[in-house]
Amino acid sequence: MTTLTPVLTKNWDQSDSFTRAAYEREGGYKALRKAFGMEPDTIVQAVKDSGLRGRGGAGFPTGMKWGFLPPTSPNPRYLVVNADESEPGTCKDIPLMMANPHVLVEGVIISSYAIRSNHAFIYVRGEVLHVIRRLQAAVAEAYEAGYLGKDILGSGYDLELVVHTGAGAYICGEETALLDSLEGFRGQPRLKPPFPAVAGLYGGPTVINNVESIASVPSIVENGADWFASMGTEKSKGFGIFSLSGHVTRPGQYEAPLGITLRELLDMAGGIREGHRLKFWTPGGSSTPIFTEEHLDVPLDFESVGAAGSMLGTRALQIFDETTCVVRAVLRWSEFYAHESCGKCTPCREGTYWYKQMLKRLEAGDGKEEDLETLLDLSDNILGRSFCALGDGATSPVVSSIKLFRDEYLQHFERGGCPFDPAKSTLWG
Ligand code: NAD
Ligand code: SF4
Repeated sequence: MTTLTPVLTKNWDQSDSFTRAAYEREGGYKALRKAFGMEPDTIVQAVKDSGLRGRGGAGFPTGMKWGFLPPTSPNPRYLVVNADESEPGTCKDIPLMMANPHVLVEGVIISSYAIRSNHAFIYVRGEVLHVIRRLQAAVAEAYEAGYLGKDILGSGYDLELVVHTGAGAYICGEETALLDSLEGFRGQPRLKPPFPAVAGLYGGPTVINNVESIASVPSIVENGADWFASMGTEKSKGFGIFSLSGHVTRPGQYEAPLGITLRELLDMAGGIREGHRLKFWTPGGSSTPIFTEEHLDVPLDFESVGAAGSMLGTRALQIFDETTCVVRAVLRWSEFYAHESCGKCTPCREGTYWYKQMLKRLEAGDGKEEDLETLLDLSDNILGRSFCALGDGATSPVVSSIKLFRDEYLQHFERGGCPFDPAKSTLWG
């Protein structure tokens, strides 16, 4: 039986957990002192050896990304933290920043030192004003304590850290759109390559990492790469925050080794809400193909979830019981993608709009069976033909739901309407 591994979440139950005093009481900023006694390249190697993979969804090896920075460049190097969490169902970075902003600040300082950057940004989504204020307060506390600014702790190392707020566009979580937005432009994805590691913010070599990835760095420095690598699976090492939401008895954040299963997580979370049973779920947010009961024992690591036909993504486990209409859920997600499509490329801009229109009709019982083939054909024209991952992600719930719940789509035509009673599902209040 896998057990929880509270590292990032360990002090969340303390009422003052967000303060520097509370963080230091628990040993916070000790890793920073240790880091300053290490060569920057030794820290990069430790992060590589730990096996830490990007916690923002894609799972790209963090240390390898840092290693892509060119050794010399006429432009300054930057560290940018992607705190624009907005994938439907994804809700781990926001509570992390609220409960323990200093672990992120400490992670930023150590990571910036490791990659030899003197300028760092935390890009936060604009709607979460409470998080922005909390981060700003933590950064101010870190400056007061001499953890930021000139000659940090007498190390000779300087770092300026800016908390920058977005304006509430999902696309600005895509790393290059985020850079455009940070530079003051309308956020739209840039062509890659060059990857940001080579030409990123203001054209300078830039590391962009997710909040949870950077927040994991202090514990790796403090406890060693082997400690981190001893958890998880062979290729998906360490721990991560799994966010359970929806029809579950105790929704919330469960920090556990990668490779834990939904069955085990549900045991800890009190199971599906009483009197109901699991119908479908997302392993990593709405951009990942949905799973059903038959996937309860799939280890939640990058490889196993991929082999089972989905993606680990952001570990946003949205749980739906038998009262939920899958067509309506997919329609809601499709409306989101249509609204958030940045419009730069035709397959996504037009395709997500078509999804919305067709699914609306289907859910209302006005569709016909051929519409399902049209939806699949449309998906073929979005997937792999879109400029960024938003378009690809939009196809996941549509294609996987038709594959797994074709009969439920058909019931809508046969009955001339939705066979589900929205009043019975807590999700559609
Ligand atoms: P990606 O695989 O294209 O890139 C992942 C990271 O690796 C990027 O930082 C990229 O720059 C880097 N990288 C990849 N190849 C590289 C190379 N050859 N050289 C240098 N760097 C390289 O994925 P992506 O488009 O950045 O992200 C997609 C993921 O984002 C999805 O899987 C989804 O789960 C996730 N997502 C998360 C949220 C959220 O709210 N957290 C929202 C939407 C999507
Ligand atoms: Fe914009 Fe969508 Fe194209 Fe991405 S896939 S560039 S979000 S239109």
